[in-house]
Parts: sequence; C-alpha cells; structure tokens
Amino acid sequence: MTPALEGSGGTGSSRILVALGGNALTAEGDAGPDAQRRAAERAMKQVAELVAAGNEVAITHGNGPQVGNLLLKNEIARHAVPPVPLDWCVAQTQATIGYLIMTALERELAVRRIGSALAVLLTRVLVDPADPAWEHPSKPIGQSNRRLVPSPEPVEILDRDAVVRLLDDGAIVVAAGGGGIPMIRENGGIRGVEAVVDKDLCGALLARAIGADRMLIATDVRAAATGFGGDDPEWIDSISSDRLRELIDAGEFGAGSMLPKVEACARFVEGGGEEATICHLGELDRALAGAAGTTVKAGT
Ligand code: ADP
Ligand code: MG
Repeated sequence: MTPALEGSGGTGSSRILVALGGNALTAEGDAGPDAQRRAAERAMKQVAELVAAGNEVAITHGNGPQVGNLLLKNEIARHAVPPVPLDWCVAQTQATIGYLIMTALERELAVRRIGSALAVLLTRVLVDPADPAWEHPSKPIGQSNRRLVPSPEPVEILDRDAVVRLLDDGAIVVAAGGGGIPMIRENGGIRGVEAVVDKDLCGALLARAIGADRMLIATDVRAAATGFGGDDPEWIDSISSDRLRELIDAGEFGAGSMLPKVEACARFVEGGGEEATICHLGELDRALAGAAGTTVKAGT
C-alpha cells in the first residue's frame, strides 16, 4: 500500500486493481491465438501508462470465451482424452491469458524503461456450497457454442496473502483471472467445484483484499448509462453508491454484463475503497484522472 500518499486524488501513487473484460481481450468475437495476443497487446499499452505514472498495479481479467472453448474441446475430444472438470479449465485460462498479459506488459514496460517484476498467480476463490446459483446456471460462456454454468458469489480470495506479498514487494500481479478458481471447504480441506465466478464481483473482493485505493473496470463501452439500449442513453459520469443502488433496483443495467460491474463498484466503495470506475479500455488513464467513465464513490 501507499499510506503516505493515500487519498492524494490521482496525483500520487495509488494501488489500483484493473479488471479487463473478456471483450477487451478478444477482438471482434475472434478467440484465435493471434487475435487474443493482439488484444492483450492493445490492453497492456493502456495498463503500462498506469504503471509509468507510478501506480502499483494488480490486474484481473475475464475468461468467458476462452473457458467456453476449452469445455467444447473437452467434449469433442472426450473419446481420445479424458475430459477435465470446469475448475481445471478456469485454471488453464488463468495460465494462458496471464501469460499473454505478462508478455505484452513486459514489452510495453521495457519501451518505457521500467523493469518491474511480473507475476501471474493461480488464484483460488472460496464459494458457498449453499449458494442458490448452483440450482440456476446463469453465466453464459463460450462463443459459437454458448452455454450457461453456475456462477456463485465469491466469498474469499484464498490466495490473497501471496498477491499482497508480491505487490508489497513491487511486482505487478495478474490474479484471480476468470473470477478465480472456485473452491469449497469440505472435510477440513478445500476442493475445486464446477462453476465460473463473475470476474467483476471477484475483482471487487480482490481489490478490497489487497487494500487497493482504486478499482478500474475496463470494458467495451465508455461508461454505465441509464436508458441504455434506448434512443437516448444518458452516460453517468459520477454517482454515489446509494444512488447507484437505486438505479440497480430500477433494472437499469444488463444482467450478466453491466450489472455485475456496477454491483462490483458499489461493493468496493461500500467496503471502504476510495473510488471505482467503469470505462472503455482505451480510456484507462483518463478514467483514473476522473475525466472518463463512470466513477462511483461511497455515500448518498
Ligand atoms: P466485459 O467483457 O467487459 O465484461 P460485458 O459485455 O460483460 O463486457 O459488459 C459490457 C456491456 O454491457 C456493454 O457492451 C453493453 O452492451 C452492456 N450494458 C448493459 N447495460 C448497460 C448500461 N446500462 N450501460 C452501459 N452498458 C450496458
Ligand atoms: Mg462481462
């Protein structure tokens, strides 16, 4: 953390969690390796600017298209190779997407003569076996072959301590990719379960767990809006968490898309985080300065 500079309003160094949407990491519905690599390169140009400005940066990311493709591969190949469970697939996407991010970010930092250590952490997240989500699969994954899987609430970032130690030591950390690998407590231990946790909700939990000052959710629209999908959407530039909750209750935000983002922002600031911002991936640094996106602060 950066206690001396905390609350300095974006001029000094902050600890920032950046959450990257699956859309930001896959170009135009193309989940081919080249498209994914190029998307990661585009995204890391933006993230490198946050690092260059002196911020401590942790990154999380979605995995919807990628994990869906792995499941499909499993199915098609099941007579030749034993299928693996969904939690294994989530772990695989943390590794591959993390690898793309790490490599792209390293290059962007080198251009700026920054030699920070980079780490991609396999990150497990605790979920509740009694979560109603098990009975109502709601999370769409995959591309051509969309399907719904259970998406329980994230309860605890099990690998939090490792993330914090690396950040405290000056590393840039990619963590809790794809919403984290979902685990339940059982018989005095833990085991993986077949689900995909929402990456924005998990991001809010991670951001609080690492003591982040700011959370930035980068997606493919400029901000959250009211009247979205209508003729005259009104983009929200700044809003209190209480007012945001009223708009949530009024059904202004798309379930499974904008809703988890605004919910994540509300949770982060209600839990003590300074500000949370939803913005277009191309406007990350402007969003950090309060000049783009939807910024949420705690209060009425
Ligand atoms: P990501 O992959 O970044 O998580 P999502 O597709 O899940 O992106 O969420 C972003 C999408 O949310 C936007 O592209 C937009 O179509 C949709 N959306 C739904 N409701 C709203 C709203 N009220 N304001 C802005 N965008 C909205
Ligand atoms: Mg999403």
